[in-house]
Amino acid sequence: DGRVERITSTIRVIPDFPKPGILFQDITTLLLDPQAFRDTTDLFVERYKDKGITVVAGVEARGFIFGPPIALAIGAKFVPIRKPKKLPGEVISEEYSLEYGTDKIEMHVGAVQPNDRALIVDDLIATGGTLCAAAKLIGELMCIKFLEIMEYIIFCVRILLIIACSIFLA
Ligand code: 5GP
Repeated sequence: DGRVERITSTIRVIPDFPKPGILFQDITTLLLDPQAFRDTTDLFVERYKDKGITVVAGVEARGFIFGPPIALAIGAKFVPIRKPKKLPGEVISEEYSLEYGTDKIEMHVGAVQPNDRALIVDDLIATGGTLCAAAKLIGELMCIKFLEIMEYIIFCVRILLIIACSIFLA
């Protein structure tokens, strides 16, 4: 319907930023155009509104711009995925490779539950490393809760077995 083409035309392309050889896609010019900004979030809302999404996870920093309006429109909670040492609570981290070196992202433990269905939002995919790390983090958070529940069930079964054995031996 022409929206994608209009949105694309508002993104400024800056050569050699932040270093020589990189063609940087600058979405700040998209944000200067309210209709393009609305169309961008609308496209995601239309695609994901009936998919049972319960959590939108935004990747720092530009996932914090596009994530919250999508979360509000589809009635999901918003969870930030942040750079290291920014979140005040208990976190889990995921390290991932960049073109040169590594980077790390973090999420609050408890922000995502095993029965959540997550949509990860960022502004751009280059190698896909950031997105993969974000998906891994969310997967681990869901497993942590699941493992906690399993540990609790195993603990209860052991107590019951001990009680049953002591009754049987008495
Ligand atoms: P990837 O991990 O896929 O290689 O890189 C994606 C991440 O780097 C995203 O978080 C994105 O914000 C940032 N990024 C990489 N290149 C660009 C670019 O050209 N423009 C913008 N806006 N972000 C970029």
